Amino acid sequence: MKRNRLIASSKRTNLFSEGSGRPLSKYRHLLLLSLLTLGGFFITSIVLATSEPVDSGIESQVIALPGLHSEHQQDTITRQSETKVINLPGNEVQENDLKNTSVNESTKEAASKSLLIDSESTGPVREELTSANKQAPALEWDTITVKSGDNLSLIFPRVGLTARDVYQVAKLDKKIKPLLNLKPGQQLRFAIDDSNGNVSLQKLQLIISPVETFQLSLTEEDGYIVETLKRDVELRQQSVTGSIDSSLFQAGTSAGLSDNLIMELAYIFGWDIDFALDLRKGDHFNLLYNEEFLDGNKIKDGDIIAAEFTNRGKTFRAVRFVDDDGVGRYYTPEGDSMRKAFNRTPVHFSRISSRYNPNRKHPVLKTNRPHRGVDYAARTGTPIMATGDGKVSFVGTKGGYGRTIVLSHGGKYTTLYAHMSRFKKGIKSGKRVSQGDVIGYIGSSGLATGPHLHYEFRVNGVHHNPLTVSLPKAEPLPEKYRTRFFASTQPILAQLDSLQRSSVALNE
Ligand SMILES: [Zn+2]
Repeated sequence: MKRNRLIASSKRTNLFSEGSGRPLSKYRHLLLLSLLTLGGFFITSIVLATSEPVDSGIESQVIALPGLHSEHQQDTITRQSETKVINLPGNEVQENDLKNTSVNESTKEAASKSLLIDSESTGPVREELTSANKQAPALEWDTITVKSGDNLSLIFPRVGLTARDVYQVAKLDKKIKPLLNLKPGQQLRFAIDDSNGNVSLQKLQLIISPVETFQLSLTEEDGYIVETLKRDVELRQQSVTGSIDSSLFQAGTSAGLSDNLIMELAYIFGWDIDFALDLRKGDHFNLLYNEEFLDGNKIKDGDIIAAEFTNRGKTFRAVRFVDDDGVGRYYTPEGDSMRKAFNRTPVHFSRISSRYNPNRKHPVLKTNRPHRGVDYAARTGTPIMATGDGKVSFVGTKGGYGRTIVLSHGGKYTTLYAHMSRFKKGIKSGKRVSQGDVIGYIGSSGLATGPHLHYEFRVNGVHHNPLTVSLPKAEPLPEKYRTRFFASTQPILAQLDSLQRSSVALNE
């Protein structure tokens, strides 16, 4: 550290005499001040660039630097076998058990692998990194609690930072979203280096949760970079069995489940069981789920790992599987999706005002005027959602239907939505839509007595009752995952079996 400062100050003197050509003693302070103001950033760069390793002992090792630029990481990913990793010394304890962020286990692994640097191909870089690392002293942190109405421009001066620092950080724009939406009570931690006479922000952390920290750090190569640091939570498996007396909510609560877990359970089986209408006393469920612990304390419930629900004597089972993108979905033990390819209902917050009736007689004319769809009455402007993934095959006005959209879903199925007040912006023929996407809004265009959606469901061109038609399953598990799926879910399902046996024994 001592040596670094020497180098730094000699550099500064050089700059001085070359730039001014005047005796240093007289104007030293004035010049120094203006130089610091104007060129503070450059000096910082020079200091960083010229600093050298002091006491080593880790010369032959490679440093895993969390802040390394991602492109660089890609370059080095394949050469990790020759290298050793050590943790960044000099940082606070907390940082040692923080891991580089990722959405899931596999990318986390990839990320940490990719941070390794090979000695042959990236020799000079490695040198710099090593020196950058060693010149970093133990950072001292200032903690600020965000007040109501606070923003970075108000907070930075409190820790001695300037408008220029605010600008340097603010120009990262969307990347620093958490810092732009500060909430009162949040903790911000600043590591500021003022050892060379000029103040520079080295690291800024926003504590998002006990597990997650958003971090901005100054790097030599890329300036400020951002990352989310995540501590590893310990997962402990929990099992619960319950029996319906009056409602799922009541049963879940008395079994000790949180509201969130009850909702998740209802969501998983919601495609097969209508929890408002189908439940009977004596229906029962078993589930395995994770609880997340940090430092020995439970912080929250994790995901449901597997569950079964017996409704009116019929048992449904679901097991969670996480794909390579870190997305967890629920499947039957056979690998079929728990979801269906279609939602039953295209509008929330509506009531059925007219049911499907192919033999309906017109109330006045007494002629056969079949109603080949279901009407959902709701306020004008209520969003209408695509019930399944598909493509817009018609959008426009269609006689008595008024403003109408027809979606085709893979050839066999079509759905029709009529009487809209308007279409969702951007909806046009040929456009792809996903299940749940808003396509338009409730209205009373065409022949309609009041605002409602007229919804039709056709299979191979033939109308079916949308409320009772047997809906196809959503995409099953992709073929490439099948082997892994069966191997990983088998022990979980065995646990579910034994849970079932013990709950049956308990009830007898
Ligand atoms: Zn209708």
